[in-house]
Amino acid sequence: MTEILEKDLHHWLEHVRIYANNGKVADYIPALANQQPEINAVAYFPLEGDVIHAGQSEYSFTIQSISKVITLALALVQHGENAVFNRVGKEPSSDPFYSIAKLEVESPGKPFNPMINAGALAVTNMIRGRNSEEMVEEVLQLVRLLTNDEEVYYDEEVAKSEFETAFLNRSLAYFMKQNGIITGSVEELIDVYTKQCAISLNVKQLARIGAVFANDGRDPDTNNPLIPSHVARICKTFMVTCGMYNASGTFAIEVGIPAKSGVSGAIMSIIKGGGGLAVFGPSLDERGNSVVGMQFLQKLAQEKRWSIF
Ligand code: GLU
Repeated sequence: MTEILEKDLHHWLEHVRIYANNGKVADYIPALANQQPEINAVAYFPLEGDVIHAGQSEYSFTIQSISKVITLALALVQHGENAVFNRVGKEPSSDPFYSIAKLEVESPGKPFNPMINAGALAVTNMIRGRNSEEMVEEVLQLVRLLTNDEEVYYDEEVAKSEFETAFLNRSLAYFMKQNGIITGSVEELIDVYTKQCAISLNVKQLARIGAVFANDGRDPDTNNPLIPSHVARICKTFMVTCGMYNASGTFAIEVGIPAKSGVSGAIMSIIKGGGGLAVFGPSLDERGNSVVGMQFLQKLAQEKRWSIF
């Protein structure tokens, strides 16, 4: 495992920031359209040593789809593998994350995997709690544990903006309710889902979550178990097969590390035996991945030979 130095982060971020011009900030969630494409940041949380960072590393963004890894871990801890995989599959879909197509044409109603929206909605529906408030609290508690930061909360403006416009996610949820994959109130489910997606972190906090996964579910500072190792392994495997939307295959070849992307422009990645690396740049390519983040990971992974394959 080649060492990563802060100067590497500065060097490559400086080198790739220009790519922001090749993408577009997500605007289907109105509040995300306000993000500044020129903002970018990166942090590496190693299993040994202190966090290093470059760019606007104090800047907070919403984690969006990266939350799907966390809710999957939570549902697996709360209900076990059998219950979770009764509701959601384990296969890549090759469709865009918001697609409804396969819900209708393949084994009716069961989403392909927990990283696409349909699968993530089915997983979030399983989180314990008597109401949406308690369910959101369960997710926040886990994120606070993983970041070692009790202050973590969600961005109310982004959550509200997505809740008011999440017509496609409501459609996915109603479709699955019809097929018995989802139970209870769809409105409450969308409330929890939009709040988990709006959890607000900076790259240093996100890199720490990656470091927990790199450490097989143990706290990178204390080594205390936070997530069972078999659950961490399942989450990392989904990040490899489905974490970068329908660019996951290309990413596996070109970068070759577990990573999860969100439409805010954040990517959480895991360096085996090394730590967690988070990169942020809100300008997205046509698949929904941060253009700066993708370029950064490609360059650094090739230089440091990170590929697990
Ligand atoms: N909240 C977003 C949605 O459901 C998350 C999508 C993403 O980051 O991929 O549309």
